[in-house]
Amino acid sequence: MNTPKDAAARRAVKPVICYPVDTLPVPDMAGYERARTTMTKVDEVLVPPRDASCFTVPAGHFFRIVSVEGSQVGDLNLWARDNLNERFYSGKTRALHGTHITTGQRMWTSFPYLRPMATITHDTLGWYGKDEFGGSVHDVIGTRCDPYTHHLLAGGQYHHCCHSNLTRALANHLGVPVAEAEPHVHDVLNVFMCTGFTRDTGQYFMKASPVRPGDYLEFYAEIDLLGALSACPGGDCSAEHSSDAAACYPLLVEIYAPEAGSMDAAAEPRVSGYDRSHGI
Ligand SMILES: [Zn+2]
Repeated sequence: MNTPKDAAARRAVKPVICYPVDTLPVPDMAGYERARTTMTKVDEVLVPPRDASCFTVPAGHFFRIVSVEGSQVGDLNLWARDNLNERFYSGKTRALHGTHITTGQRMWTSFPYLRPMATITHDTLGWYGKDEFGGSVHDVIGTRCDPYTHHLLAGGQYHHCCHSNLTRALANHLGVPVAEAEPHVHDVLNVFMCTGFTRDTGQYFMKASPVRPGDYLEFYAEIDLLGALSACPGGDCSAEHSSDAAACYPLLVEIYAPEAGSMDAAAEPRVSGYDRSHGI
């Protein structure tokens, strides 16, 4: 392979941000902050270790994913409650907000909807930032652990990867066979997971999550939501996943209702205004 003479000059070109977010609608963080001071817990769902559970959140409510008992990572799927075709779009959320998301950033829905479905309103791990390895928490890069990749790399049949947990939970919730539920399962928000890319090879890495019991990630539901959360078989993801080797703990989902009227100003976000004619 010949390196061109101007290789250094080509490499020295400065990058530009693909999607400057200056024109994104700005979330009313002061409004969320006021509303969350009035909220009371109305429901909770305990997600067993190496398993997943579904939950629903009405638009205008808050929900928290809470660490209980031990350091544990959670894989989160979200859908529009009454239309499973509209679901969390991890890749576009990553393109807009970066590899990891925290307070003030949003989870966006799939095409052709592309609207915010949930806004992060509090993150007790917000202090973590980026560590010396380039790692950070709550990633939108890691897809979800799944039995297909596990089989490809290690062989065998493991049934408690997040992908299978989410599939079973959704099938139970909808009352349909797993084969019908599986196509709805999508790339996740990796809640509490500490990840990054190695600087030399660019490989996806994970390390022990800094989450401790009592920590939580809190969201505002912009639309009516159906959620599914898996307590990853990797536990704190310090060593391995897709096996029963790691210590694994439950996760708690809490649903909170703000006082009536406290979020009146926040209208439900509209679906994308693109006309969908695609040049025809
Ligand atoms: Zn997992």
